[in-house]
Amino acid sequence: MANGIKAIRGMNDILPHESYLWLHFELKVQQWLAAYGYRNIRTPIVEQTDLFVRSIGEVTDIVEKEMYTFVDHLNNDSLTLRPEGTASCVRAVIEHNLLYSGPQRLYYTGPMFRHERPQKGRYRQFHQVGVEALGFAGPDIDAELIIMCARFWQLLGISGLRLEIGTLGNAETRALYRSRLVKYFEQHREALDEDSQRRLHTNPLRILDSKNPLMHKLIENAPKLIDDLDVESCEHFETLQSILRGQGINFEINLRLVRGLDYYNRTVFEWVTDKLGAQGTVCAGGRYDGLIAQVGGKPAPACGFAMGVERLLALMQDADNSVDQPAPDIYIVHQGEQVTYYAWKCAEFLRDEGFNVVLHCGGGSFKTQMKKADASGASYAVIIGDEELKTEEVTLKPLREAIAQARVKLVIVGEIIRKEHSNLTT
Ligand code: ATP
Ligand code: MG
Repeated sequence: MANGIKAIRGMNDILPHESYLWLHFELKVQQWLAAYGYRNIRTPIVEQTDLFVRSIGEVTDIVEKEMYTFVDHLNNDSLTLRPEGTASCVRAVIEHNLLYSGPQRLYYTGPMFRHERPQKGRYRQFHQVGVEALGFAGPDIDAELIIMCARFWQLLGISGLRLEIGTLGNAETRALYRSRLVKYFEQHREALDEDSQRRLHTNPLRILDSKNPLMHKLIENAPKLIDDLDVESCEHFETLQSILRGQGINFEINLRLVRGLDYYNRTVFEWVTDKLGAQGTVCAGGRYDGLIAQVGGKPAPACGFAMGVERLLALMQDADNSVDQPAPDIYIVHQGEQVTYYAWKCAEFLRDEGFNVVLHCGGGSFKTQMKKADASGASYAVIIGDEELKTEEVTLKPLREAIAQARVKLVIVGEIIRKEHSNLTT
């Protein structure tokens, strides 16, 4: 396509040979979350820009440089394609007063948009499964969310993920820590990159999340938040750890985990793989007790996480857990105008019997139609001509096994196929 229109860089088409894996994954997601009593919520893809600025934080990579923001020229509103789902979920929960009827276990799936440099595992339109537990204060729900993830990796057949957990304490903890950090980084000002210099006084915790390898040594030696941790947060963190240990979940404590969004407090966690290079985090989340009030709701605690679908699917393909759509069971070959009406009826009848049926369209000789039947991968051809029409029969021809074809009544086709397949499997 020399001058043709192409998809936007970093935004991918998901073609039929890949999309079955997506469908398979989405079905697993529904089953998995239903098993834990989480319910689906769907919010618009576009929101007021202010929602994300207020929740994610003004001095974050996402808000500073990754958002797709535009003006709605009809009313001059500033709108943004959602870069993540928690803010929208919280907005909807407040707007519809969902917490009135008690705590909520919710999840959403869908595309998110961030203007990042596209590379493997990092796209401008990518997909997340987000899980949010709103109105729960205790560490039991933090543990539930983490334990759920562990089960999901099992369901997907993914192994080798590492769990890192950390704590950010309460607002006071972070204020104390912030001033210690500023002091430390000021002493090493010359070693700070441009982004970090800018953030030194606006959002110094962000410096810890820097992806710049030249900053890693400096960050490694920075003071640790744990020294300023408040007693309640410390207890919360201890209880979380003991529940995880009790359930046999391995974890590493990472006291440098700050996450890329400002709304977190207390628990933060990430599931990481070594198999995807720099894009190793497949799932990340934590507690955000202040966010609901910050977005304008009645204060309520909450905790959640989001996983990157593309990264998880890449791991499934890596582990050979990829799946493809099965070929149809039956391909119907037919010829003659009167026969065609009968063939359409046969097709619907066999679908009612539970088979996946492709009805040949486009005419052609029996021979060319049989070639199509074979190429479709179907297990059987059902052949219908004038003779079959007269007697309400069909010719059933196994395409993958050395079994002779046979003229049979349409009504017993299902029975024959099921019998042959049970013979084959026993
Ligand atoms: P990263 O450090 O990889 O940029 P993040 O901290 O920005 O991730 P979150 O905002 O916590 O990520 O999003 C949760 C998950 O969504 C990530 O762990 C990752 O799996 C996935 N994700 C985030 N950004 C992208 C992207 N641009 N393309 C594909 N997946 C992404
Ligand atoms: Mg990011």
